[in-house]
Amino acid sequence: MDFFRLLSRGTKLDNAEAFTKSGKPVEDEDNIIRPLDFFHTHSTPAQEVREKEIKRQSEPESHVPVIPYQKSKTTGNDVPHPLTTFQDLVSRFQVSESLVSRIKFPAPTQIQSEAIPGILHDRDILASAPTGSGKTLAYVLPIAHILQKGQQGSTNGIKALILVPTKELATQVLEAFTILTRGATTFKVQVLTKSLLARVTSEAGAKAGDVLIATPLRLVRALAVLDFGSLRHLVLDEADKLFDPAFAPQTDDILAHLRGRTQQKIFLSATLPSSIETLALNLMTAPLRILISPGQAAATVAQKLVYAGSEAGKLLAIRQMLKTGDLTPPVLIFLQSIERANALFHELVYDGVNVDVIHGERTETQRRAVVERFKKAEVWVLICTDVFARGIDVHGVNLVINYDVPQSAQAYIHRIGRTGRAGKQGKAVTFFTKDDVESVKIVVNVMKESGCEVQEWMTRLGKVDKKTKKQLKRKPVERDDISTQPKKRKRKNQSRDKDNGRELSTKDE
Ligand code: ADP
Ligand code: MG
Repeated sequence: MDFFRLLSRGTKLDNAEAFTKSGKPVEDEDNIIRPLDFFHTHSTPAQEVREKEIKRQSEPESHVPVIPYQKSKTTGNDVPHPLTTFQDLVSRFQVSESLVSRIKFPAPTQIQSEAIPGILHDRDILASAPTGSGKTLAYVLPIAHILQKGQQGSTNGIKALILVPTKELATQVLEAFTILTRGATTFKVQVLTKSLLARVTSEAGAKAGDVLIATPLRLVRALAVLDFGSLRHLVLDEADKLFDPAFAPQTDDILAHLRGRTQQKIFLSATLPSSIETLALNLMTAPLRILISPGQAAATVAQKLVYAGSEAGKLLAIRQMLKTGDLTPPVLIFLQSIERANALFHELVYDGVNVDVIHGERTETQRRAVVERFKKAEVWVLICTDVFARGIDVHGVNLVINYDVPQSAQAYIHRIGRTGRAGKQGKAVTFFTKDDVESVKIVVNVMKESGCEVQEWMTRLGKVDKKTKKQLKRKPVERDDISTQPKKRKRKNQSRDKDNGRELSTKDE
């Protein structure tokens, strides 16, 4: 079967010829070959995608891969014993059987095993653990237990605040709470959406829930009106990103506003550079510092570097991969700017690839719709910027392509961490050209650190000095245009996208 045709817009997911081993038409959708129905959500209406995902995560999988334990170090005073099984929670911490019964995983992951007892012992936590290793449940579970037990009293204020860098991640954290608390909602979890923000800022006495999940940019606008009088837990998920220049002013304002009120701080990420560690430790009291393969890419991701020669070479390489079937969906393609992401989108749409694009200039509604369509397998190749690199957990992403070399080791680790999650295997391919002589060294270094096999030429590359690293972070490499389309045709494509309701540069919010 020609994958190029399979990926084409015109080819439906239930195209009979495309989806039978023998070439015979399938009789009903249950006969679809499972690997091609990669999200197991075939024919699901869009509005049900989220519920399906919650259901998937709530049901025991017969083949949950074991997330391998890696080198770890937990330091601090009185380090609590790690958790061996989820059942331990009942005997050691009097967690209710009903809460534990909602966890459908056979055993805690390493970060869960180390962090959950610490959180339940009321300790501040600074944790670094690989992408896809279950950091969300590591804080959602103990917070859910504490709130359910009503240890916080019954005041109306916010008891737990969870800060995340993107709206998509906020929704995902909400889902993790939903899985654990369905049917036993003694507390309310809310995302600070645009409408909630409007409500709390305009209606006197409007409540933001017991657990509030928010992005810093939105939260600063509501700080003055929110009731943090009963705040007990402050979680910074993707903590290093929240101190990035894009978020730091707001994160700092939030931390300053909450100073003295929070009892427990939990900071997590797969990457915690030493500057962030120092900053975090200064804010914490007698913290537990949990380091599991810190700063390393997930061991489940097979990493590859491909020399593409030029910008045109990258496009050729993608087209070649489509032809040879090496672009097994679902695929994420990362680019360094919104403009470039849009340009590649236009190229691939023109090629007839089943593709969409997500970045910070698309509206919240558009972003939500794109993620849902990607989860539903209506979009097979999703082009994105770094906005999609943090925390997003889409089941079964097979391949991540770095069309542009990322600007830092952290960006690389998080981008490729969208695959190889929860113990599953994944692949990552990074294209580079002669413009990337410096940034490619950063990638090679991560490959070496994560135990990847590297070719002989890579071993001869030196390291990037600090100054160049900083420059790269601040300003991406200048590149030639992606587009191979004549200007006239490009304009036509753009107006067609508009007609389809796909305006690509509408301001977010
Ligand atoms: P991280 O935040 O570390 O990147 P997530 O919390 O998003 O990772 O979890 C990644 C995936 O692992 C999710 O799909 C989640 O449902 C799954 N997961 C969480 N805990 C476990 C576990 N104990 N065993 C197996 N899979 C798990
Ligand atoms: Mg996460």
